[in-house]
Amino acid sequence: MNTSKTAVAMVWMAAAAIGYGAPNTNQTLVIGLYDYANLSAKEIGRLTETAAMVLADSGIQVAWAHCRGALAATPAAACEAGPQANRLVVRLLPERPRMSTADAMGHAAVDAEGGNYASVFVPAVRAQAPGFGVSSDLLMGYVLAHEVGHCLLGPHHSDTGLMRGGWNRKDAVEISRLGLHLTKEQGRKAAAKLAAAESASGN
Ligand SMILES: [Zn+2]
Repeated sequence: MNTSKTAVAMVWMAAAAIGYGAPNTNQTLVIGLYDYANLSAKEIGRLTETAAMVLADSGIQVAWAHCRGALAATPAAACEAGPQANRLVVRLLPERPRMSTADAMGHAAVDAEGGNYASVFVPAVRAQAPGFGVSSDLLMGYVLAHEVGHCLLGPHHSDTGLMRGGWNRKDAVEISRLGLHLTKEQGRKAAAKLAAAESASGN
């Protein structure tokens, strides 16, 4: 785990050094993760690593607070802090809520400005992963990143990239090579929102 985390950080540093992805500054997003689906430490490690890599492409560095589940070791105080613009809560759920549509893999509670709460429906992701030709932990990381995108950008979907309403076969190929991200404009907007939140909270 530590080795692969270092590798992720190094990939990001290399990307930053050549100015690719072009985020002007790195913004930190704290995500309090609550696993109600009893994932293994390995699955949680892979899905958080994947989501962090996807968001790092837009200059957003995720600081995970593991609040429930196999990796829960974060001091309670970090999990008890209320959600803010740069602090989200994500739940990994063992079933799809009855209100959601049949093929939904996740949900974010957002208004036009965004929101603070998102969920990933673990069995739905597991069921659809073979159709995408990727492992379920990788797909969970992408679903998580998509729902975080809604928290930062609002409810709308876009025609390309991570925030498409439904991923097609081409997107699945991009997912398998970790190539699906926010568009440059979405990335800038999301990073700007976090920058504003950080300056408002005095950090
Ligand atoms: Zn969506």
